[in-house]
Amino acid sequence: VFRSPDEILAALDPEQREVASTLRGPVAVIAGAGTGKTRAITHRIAYGVATGVYRPTSVLAVTFTTRAAGELRGRLQRLGVTGVQARTFHSAALRQAQYFWPRAYGSELPRVLENKMSLVADSANRLRVQVDTPRLRDLVSEISWAKVSNVAPEDYARLAGQHHRSVSSMDPETVGRVFESYEATKRSRERIDFEDILLCAAALIAEHPQVAEQVRATYRHFVVDEYQDVSPLQQALLDLWRGDRSDVCVVGDPAQTIHSFAGAQASYLTGFARRHRDATVIRLVRDYRSTPQVVGVANQVMDAGVRSGTAVRLQAQQPAGPAVEFASAPDEQAEAGQIADWLSRLAQPTADRPGIEYREMAVLFRINANSPALEQALADRGIPYLVRGGERFYERPEVRQALLTLRNEARALDADGGGDVLEQVKAVLGTLGWTEQPPNSAGAVRERWESLAALVSVAEDLVAEARATAGTLLEAGSTGSPAIDLAAVSAELDRRADAQHVPAAQGVTLGTIHAAKGLEWDAVALYGMQEGSLPFVLATTPEELAEERRLLYVGITRARSRLRLSWSLTRNGGGSTRRPSRFLDAVLPPSMSAGGEGGGRQRRSSLAAHCRSCGKPLTGGAERKLGRHADCPSTYDERTLALLKEWRKQEASEQSLPAYCIFTDATLVA
Ligand code: ATP
Ligand code: MG
Repeated sequence: VFRSPDEILAALDPEQREVASTLRGPVAVIAGAGTGKTRAITHRIAYGVATGVYRPTSVLAVTFTTRAAGELRGRLQRLGVTGVQARTFHSAALRQAQYFWPRAYGSELPRVLENKMSLVADSANRLRVQVDTPRLRDLVSEISWAKVSNVAPEDYARLAGQHHRSVSSMDPETVGRVFESYEATKRSRERIDFEDILLCAAALIAEHPQVAEQVRATYRHFVVDEYQDVSPLQQALLDLWRGDRSDVCVVGDPAQTIHSFAGAQASYLTGFARRHRDATVIRLVRDYRSTPQVVGVANQVMDAGVRSGTAVRLQAQQPAGPAVEFASAPDEQAEAGQIADWLSRLAQPTADRPGIEYREMAVLFRINANSPALEQALADRGIPYLVRGGERFYERPEVRQALLTLRNEARALDADGGGDVLEQVKAVLGTLGWTEQPPNSAGAVRERWESLAALVSVAEDLVAEARATAGTLLEAGSTGSPAIDLAAVSAELDRRADAQHVPAAQGVTLGTIHAAKGLEWDAVALYGMQEGSLPFVLATTPEELAEERRLLYVGITRARSRLRLSWSLTRNGGGSTRRPSRFLDAVLPPSMSAGGEGGGRQRRSSLAAHCRSCGKPLTGGAERKLGRHADCPSTYDERTLALLKEWRKQEASEQSLPAYCIFTDATLVA
């Protein structure tokens, strides 16, 4: 669908139009969630192409997660724009590195490391540094942070303090030595890690003038979505791509910075105009995504976190909708069940509204523990759901295997091209583990099934489409011949794999709030909104707590009209009593907040009922506050104890969890 330049601009409000029509020079858009930042940049690209100012292939649009990159591609496609590169930073860098590395060094780019954690563990062992799982995770993320922050191993000890970084009970010198040993081990095994992808791409441009020239001749117009989450390393790469040219447009929302623990710096966005003197800076405040009810909750949550009057308030443009719902559950199973019931109710049409499709719903959470409870609750009610989104769909082993098998089967069948093509597809995929009904189990089996089921549904669509066209084209009487055969289905799937045309989600999306950035659904349930999960137990400094609050803001603003926030008061019906997230104090009715006692702020710290040391009941207020009898021994300080408990629970439940649950590097590469 080609659109004229005027048509493109007509779909925007005056400020968005300014973004779209400022085709040259540095442009920054600083604006809140749902105000149309992504819409403005996709229309800007479309406008640039429609007016002939941009050649599509010279535009490079980057963002951070694969889902967000998919969203960009989808929106460009709907605007009729083809040929524009819309990728994650990592995927753009990987492509370039894979292309230029052999030309610069005469060998293939080293393979990407599969298991960073075990290599870090090896490196620590080699130095006789004792690490347990939580500390290992800390080390892994610390090394990643150092790399994206351009901190070299030998400088780590000196710079860590300046950046207020630490790994629990490990001195910075030791962390620096493990980091150094990790780098050496990795090199000796000829592997690169996720940060190296960016480092390699940057080094190729910085050190090889002919690479720089070629990259810069290819890409002339740069667009960065979600720019508030750019790291110093990504910024360096962007600067290398750009060279001394200034045609760069960045958009972001400082209130949605949710990766600062991993080195993201919103100051690149807020300081853009200082670094680019001739920049056009545009602010958007109208929220087009959500109902006033949802926007109201988002504003209140953010307002409560800042000194009065400094938060930018979103202005809702949508008509009024249903009230935002809050719900407390006795435990996680019950909470999951309530959410599943809520979703299935929304799917039913009623007298005054049509049913909402499952693909227009999402359940988002902060941490992954107990997500199987959610999957079980959905499966029990027959609600289709998706655990992996589109991440690296065509690189999944089962999908590669399926495409290969289909190709071979099509070749073998060639001699007789007869039979029901859908049955053939199902038979082939059946040999790989596909079944008509989803499996009962969560984890790897379910993930595999989901991939294969997505292929079946693509095949169903293709066949339906072919039949529909055939029906209109062919004379009656020739209906006996199939409109499409297995070879054609297989070829189309191969074509889609090449184009990374990921099958559309057919069910409720389950995922972390981190992975949901930039996306939107009609109905969103936020699961596990209790203290300990949000803010996460490990977030304790004011900066970390502020980031947790922003995370809630991101979660809330994903909803167009239906929003439900819930929490559970205990884990598995036992253990310590929990309370709803402190960030909800500003929006909850008094009867629900602060442990249900109408307490408000001064009751914030939860009182333990049982001694952490001996397990017997506590009586006095002071003891309940301390969490143990005054004369019971404590081997750990409070924070470490809480931390260990939480990690242990998480460790136990993460063993059986699909990889999507953890915000891993894998979500960064398309
Ligand atoms: P986020 O910060 O969550 O990434 P965003 O600022 O990128 O949000 P968009 O996703 O671009 O916001 O827009 C939110 C929704 O509002 C989209 O469905 C978009 O199509 C719609 N929208 C934005 N601007 C307009 C407009 N001028 N007219 C109609 N709809 C709009
Ligand atoms: Mg966006």
